[in-house]
Amino acid sequence: MPMPLPDTIAIDGPAASGKTTVGLLLARRLGYLCLDTGSMYRALTLAAIRRHVRPDDEAGIVRLAHECDLDVMPLAGETDGRLYTVLLDGEDVTWELRLPVVDAYVSQVSTYPEVRAEMVRRQRAFGRRGGVVMIGRDIGTVVLPEAALKLYVTASAEERAQRRLVDRRRQGHYDDDYETILADVVRRDHHDSSRQHSPMRPAADALQIDTTGRTVEEVMDQIMALFNGIPSQERA
Ligand code: C5P
Repeated sequence: MPMPLPDTIAIDGPAASGKTTVGLLLARRLGYLCLDTGSMYRALTLAAIRRHVRPDDEAGIVRLAHECDLDVMPLAGETDGRLYTVLLDGEDVTWELRLPVVDAYVSQVSTYPEVRAEMVRRQRAFGRRGGVVMIGRDIGTVVLPEAALKLYVTASAEERAQRRLVDRRRQGHYDDDYETILADVVRRDHHDSSRQHSPMRPAADALQIDTTGRTVEEVMDQIMALFNGIPSQERA
């Protein structure tokens, strides 16, 4: 049974599951704003690395979470393959957020309850604007539990590692190997789903979408079919 267009859409799922691609496409088709909350935790991790605050220094990380100025902006004509622009204290750090050192520390930085509280406060402020797609690990469960549509996007760890490898190669990084990326994906899954505060898990009312072996178009068709009242030419 098709549903009316939801004002707020929460998309959660593990690393490289396709949730960001799907979320950004959905936002573009619906004319919604989009926030990839992983980029906020990544920017905070980068701020810590730059200021030599160790990831196990909880008080130091919490202080940074309150202090740093984070902005996630839609594309404004950039053609370097980015999906959005992230500003940390006014500086464009979009590509630095993808450094392996950020991957290595981000899950630990994201475990601290006061860090999460501050990020969730900022995310909810964004969500209040309405017409929003928000992407993360705890959006449907914690940040926007009232979201009218919740999707939980998954794929096998092997396929996610393969996609990440292709992305990295496309960005000019040829030194990464599949086994290392797979190990990182599995490690982060474990860390994110077993942490005490806001662990990654599907909301009880989330629609689970497995993207393993499926194209982006197939997944988008499945999602757009949920809505009524949107003629197909407006969806493209
Ligand atoms: O989605 P992405 O891989 O960029 O997220 C990076 C990390 O940020 C995740 O592995 C997770 O530790 C953390 N994160 C989180 N809650 C969110 C989004 C991301 O804890 N809502």
